[in-house]
Amino acid sequence: MASSRLVALTGAGISTDSGIPDFRGPQGLWTKDPKAEKLSNIHYYVSDPEVRRLAWKGRLEHPAWRATPNAAHRALVEGERRGQLHALVTQNIDGLHQRAGSSPERVIEVHGTVHDAVCLQCDWRGPMQAVLDRVRAGEEDPPCTRCGGILKSATISFGQPLVPEVIARAMQAAEDADVIVAIGTSLQVYPVAGMVPAARDAGARIIIVNAEPTPFDGIADAVVAIPIGAALPAICGVESV
Ligand SMILES: [Zn+2]
Repeated sequence: MASSRLVALTGAGISTDSGIPDFRGPQGLWTKDPKAEKLSNIHYYVSDPEVRRLAWKGRLEHPAWRATPNAAHRALVEGERRGQLHALVTQNIDGLHQRAGSSPERVIEVHGTVHDAVCLQCDWRGPMQAVLDRVRAGEEDPPCTRCGGILKSATISFGQPLVPEVIARAMQAAEDADVIVAIGTSLQVYPVAGMVPAARDAGARIIIVNAEPTPFDGIADAVVAIPIGAALPAICGVESV
């Protein structure tokens, strides 16, 4: 595709081929067991030490540590290499776009990243693996070494506000786009889903690549339901289907 301003918006569906489960999908952990969602709710996390202990246990085994990027991640890297990719907005927290080779400055992580830890009290931020080393060494709920506050992954939990500057960058990217490709996202979580109509209003073409229908299929120029790993290389011009 001959586009110099391609903006990609990626969701859980792009990472399922890499072994990262879609927690919200029809077969997702949260869909099948709503109680599991507690671990990702900031109010329970802050008020209940047991929830934090369980959350840290879960982080030790997070699939992101072992996951490797798939063909769809690599296609977006190739799109960037060809000078087509303007921005890559992702709802994923797994860091697989950067691991595939996408430039960190082009990746806009609207729900944060599991690869960093943050202090909820003093704004300390650092590598997650260093904190997980403390958990492995026996600290079940490691406090911030600077202020003693509660540590958490640098992700946006339920009940936590999005980061306004990050959302502003995402919406600006949508308005700058010639083409917006939404990949593996149900486009039901706002404000990010609003990128699609915002891009359309600014004159962009819309391509939706998702296994399930989305609310914006009706305004899309193309809706692609074939597996994402096969569709993306074609859309990014890496190869033809
Ligand atoms: Zn702190």
